Amino acid sequence: MIIVRQVKLDLLEGEEKLALKLRHKLHLDKDEKFSYKIEHRSLDLRKKAHYSYSLIVEIKNEQRFLHLKDVELYKPFKLELKPQQYPFRPIIIGYGPSGIFANYLLVKAGFKPIVFERGSRILNRVKAVEHFLKTGELNEESNVQFGEGGAGTFSDAKLTTRIKDPLISFITEVLIAYGAPCEIRYEHHPHIGTDKIRTVIQNLTDDMMQKGSSFHFDERVSDLLIKDHQIKGVITAKGTYQSPVVILACGHSSEDIYELLYKKGVYLENKALAVGFRVEHPQELIDRLQYKDNYAFLKEIPSEYFLRAKTSLNKGVFSFCMCPGGEIVNASFKKDRVLTNGMSYYKRDSQLANSAILVQIDTSDYGEALFAPLDYIKALEKKAYDITRSNKALAQNIKDYLKKEVHPLIFNSSYRLGTKLYDLNAFFDAPINKALHEALHHFDKLLPGFIDKGIIVGPETRSSAPLRIKRDQSRQSVNTKGLYPIGEGAGYGGGIMSCALDGLHTAFKIIEISS
Ligand SMILES: Cc1cc2nc3c(=O)[nH]c(=O)nc-3n(C[C@H](O)[C@H](O)[C@H](O)COP(=O)(O)OP(=O)(O)OC[C@H]3O[C@@H](n4cnc5c(N)ncnc54)[C@H](O)[C@@H]3O)c2cc1C
Repeated sequence: MIIVRQVKLDLLEGEEKLALKLRHKLHLDKDEKFSYKIEHRSLDLRKKAHYSYSLIVEIKNEQRFLHLKDVELYKPFKLELKPQQYPFRPIIIGYGPSGIFANYLLVKAGFKPIVFERGSRILNRVKAVEHFLKTGELNEESNVQFGEGGAGTFSDAKLTTRIKDPLISFITEVLIAYGAPCEIRYEHHPHIGTDKIRTVIQNLTDDMMQKGSSFHFDERVSDLLIKDHQIKGVITAKGTYQSPVVILACGHSSEDIYELLYKKGVYLENKALAVGFRVEHPQELIDRLQYKDNYAFLKEIPSEYFLRAKTSLNKGVFSFCMCPGGEIVNASFKKDRVLTNGMSYYKRDSQLANSAILVQIDTSDYGEALFAPLDYIKALEKKAYDITRSNKALAQNIKDYLKKEVHPLIFNSSYRLGTKLYDLNAFFDAPINKALHEALHHFDKLLPGFIDKGIIVGPETRSSAPLRIKRDQSRQSVNTKGLYPIGEGAGYGGGIMSCALDGLHTAFKIIEISS
């Protein structure tokens, strides 16, 4: 098989034209037989807008094409695992993307892992979240961040990552096999949507149960058994479970786990993070700005943006986790905190675009102590709650934030728990406001109207982990053998795809060490 890149279609050309374009690109006679499938598709809006495809082609004597521009041999990733029997059952704490994919691979290898998840299965979790969004009554164990599927379940389920790894296609195929839309196989910015990812995860869990993995939902791990720097098992309110291998996949908001690890002497270090707020705009504004003259052809596809700014205080500001046609959600897991995030349904049809706008912060903002970054974001979340005395988010028009004024919002936010008008200049420290002001002016130059036609809803504090659970080459904690910290909470992933990859790579290591 070969892969042929840069096969281009105009916006008005249908995909039935691909075969013809391919024939032309490979200089084939009109009778020569071949088959192809789409490996990747991206929309290129530079100069004359077009779609650019990479196609995997099956054709005889493929070597003869390798001298051509944009053509390479294609080697698909093949998982070669011979299932074996093992004398122990690994324990996995946390069933978000990293835990899910670690479990998936271990099951394939013949293990029968035991999974503990503090939150509920999806159906009950959805009920808990809907109840929260209607009444403001939060279930601290089962919410937007905790429960089957982890933090990415109430999300846009974007699968974008900057990591290049052959296992990405493996993960994509697993998601498709359990019900994800097929186009995630090739779209440049694939997304599944909160509605569809819920089904995918339920199907996956059901299948893993059938194949020998046991699941303990609504069961929080409250203690770790560690003796002579070796993990021995875990403790929950329901019992003690022994295993020489414990995968810690708890996400970035399991604050009790960080405290427990510290108490137990597991090596932790703090890391830089970012804080800010969500901005929200009419989706149509973003589409018109992004698509320009091609708006009429492309308006059915809600557009995205990725923005970055350098600021005079040397604090980078960036847009993060943009949700086209989405909804701003309260991602809290504590009754007395307010924090925002974003999600979208598969169709991305809410008519509003939201994205976090975040400023990088470091020890100059929060100090040197180990738990200082965590304490810093906790204080912001608590402050927001204390201002509203409810689950309402703080909100302000972007133009008012820049003028330090407060006026009624220019439109209603998608945030369902209500908003409280507040001057966010009084919320963040001065250097953070300065960086955000500068960045917003820069973003308005790139996307005119960004300031005048947008609102702020916040705060957003949880884009990455405040601590790293440091591990060695074998992916075990540097000072606790058998303990495998993975994913976002361990400081080794950010986003669904990178955490899923981290789960897979760690599972490979465990299989290698145990075989
Ligand atoms: C609202 C929202 C939208 C997002 N949108 C996107 C997106 O579109 N695309 C993207 O790539 N990323 C998105 N993210 C980020 C993404 O979800 C995370 O990066 C990813 O889920 C992290 O995976 P993880 O496996 O490391 O941890 P998590 O997904 O956080 O899962 C950790 C799990 O561990 C469980 N747990 C914690 N402590 C314990 C304990 N003591 N005992 C038992 N269980 C425990 C938790 O309940 C949780 O289910 C979003 C996040 C949120 C909150």
